[in-house]
Amino acid sequence: MKTDIEISQEAELLPIKAVAEQVGLTEDDLEAFGKYKAKIEFDTLRRLAEKPAGKLILVTSINPTPAGEGKSTVTIGLGDALNAIGKPTVIALREPSLGPVMGIKGGATGGGYAQVLPMEDINLHFTGDMHAITTANNALAALLDNHLQQGNQLSIDPRRIIWKRVVDLNDRALRHVMVGLGGPIQGVPREDGFDITVASEIMAILCLATDIEDLKQRISNIIVGYTYEREPVTVADLKVEGAIALLLKDAIKPNLVQTIYHTPALVHGGPFANIAHGCNSILATQTALRLGEYTVTEAGFGADLGAEKFLDIKVPNLGKAPDAVVVVATIRALKMHGGVSKDALGLENVAALVKGFANLQKHIENMKAYGLPVVVAINEFVTDTADEIQALKELCEAIQVPVELTSVWGAGPVGGKALAERVVQVIEAETPNFHTIYASGVSLEEKITTIVTEIYGGKDVSFSPKALNQLKTFHKYGWNRLPVCMAKTQYSLSDNPALLGRPEDFTVTIREFVPKLGAGFIVALTGDVMTMPGLPKHPAALNMDVMPDGTAVGLF
Ligand code: ADP
Repeated sequence: MKTDIEISQEAELLPIKAVAEQVGLTEDDLEAFGKYKAKIEFDTLRRLAEKPAGKLILVTSINPTPAGEGKSTVTIGLGDALNAIGKPTVIALREPSLGPVMGIKGGATGGGYAQVLPMEDINLHFTGDMHAITTANNALAALLDNHLQQGNQLSIDPRRIIWKRVVDLNDRALRHVMVGLGGPIQGVPREDGFDITVASEIMAILCLATDIEDLKQRISNIIVGYTYEREPVTVADLKVEGAIALLLKDAIKPNLVQTIYHTPALVHGGPFANIAHGCNSILATQTALRLGEYTVTEAGFGADLGAEKFLDIKVPNLGKAPDAVVVVATIRALKMHGGVSKDALGLENVAALVKGFANLQKHIENMKAYGLPVVVAINEFVTDTADEIQALKELCEAIQVPVELTSVWGAGPVGGKALAERVVQVIEAETPNFHTIYASGVSLEEKITTIVTEIYGGKDVSFSPKALNQLKTFHKYGWNRLPVCMAKTQYSLSDNPALLGRPEDFTVTIREFVPKLGAGFIVALTGDVMTMPGLPKHPAALNMDVMPDGTAVGLF
């Protein structure tokens, strides 16, 4: 079997303007980055926003396991398959982060015969959006430290600054740092820390902003810290929202690329779904919805994280709910949820599959609780046996949820035909009755309790003394009305990564909150989830190389 990069390097790409022509765009609508990548111009985005929206399909999954689920792969393959059955479709995905690319998870461009291209570019520096976001974030940090240095007119308490620096790498050594050391001309010494760029508020803002004005307004609202009197200090107080927005003026435009089968794909914005809100940009999704009759998009990790935030945070900003949700599961991963160890996944084990199905069932119930039609996609692996596939289909049918096997990874669009037809059938037959899981008016405690008990299936929530204190401050400033962005391990429905399957009777601990008023939500940190990941013992970087002609090697 060929590797993802070998398959991608054999593919023949169309010039990006030919891809754009398929959806009615001309060269004037594009700002080309070489032959195969382009950004879409503002005028075009504005013009398209006036058009009616097509149908939206949200792809999500069970809780991920080290066995792999293939959510991006199925998203891309489903887009190709819909086009192949005559339904004009555009894909809307997130941009990969170099943290996982160099670390353990890999890229975010799909796999096998369901990939977006050029995969090396997209997985590495792409059109420079990550650089722009990192720089905008760190420019604000530099301006803030300069404010302290130049007399601190705003009386900002250096011990109560919450704005961190960022870098788009997994770098645990930067989690806690001291800055401003070396004497009076080197700045004001204080404790600082780095997050990964994809967890930053600037990333969230870029993904939620609807235009430059909205971008600037959101940046103005960012809380950078508190004064000695404990009053919040915003970017508007520092008067630098214009400069920070200026650094993002191109990054905010969606990027157009293509799949192996030339389906147009808008790949834009990349917040993680465990420590951020996990969805691609509103501008890209909104544009895709006007360019295709169908848009297939993906929310990160399991439906407890990415889909919950898609539905409770992104949809109210997007103004359009999904017409159907596809929940991706693999037989391997369900066997792991049923207690099988990674090295025994190659062996048939229907009993473990039946046990692990509890995880999938919970995610199906959750998506239905939002009033949305659900289709299960079994992402086929070569190790799956006929009995296991049959058992999983029967389990789904017993709870009246449509299910299709998909083999887009090995076979491309042909392998996704049954899934595409089923999804279209469901969309044509069912009218979604969407509602968010919590009302916006209720308190933050109530929102979190609803998510924990109804989505995670837990018993209750415990707030640390620090979190309780923060809640008092938030109440005082009226931030209670904001949605909550849960930061939680992706591996379990609970906040303990070891609890697989469908755990019950657990308590979720809220350690701390981070107010993100520019993004428009409050982040709730649970368990020991980290906003700066570390690298594993054998990072993916060890397999990578570059040839004298610049060809990438070993990028999965
Ligand atoms: P996710 O979006 O769930 O993180 P991806 O779609 O990025 O997962 O896939 C992760 C990896 O798993 C990729 O390297 C991809 O090639 C591989 N993969 C996906 N589906 C299959 C499959 N059916 N068989 C074998 N490998 C697969």
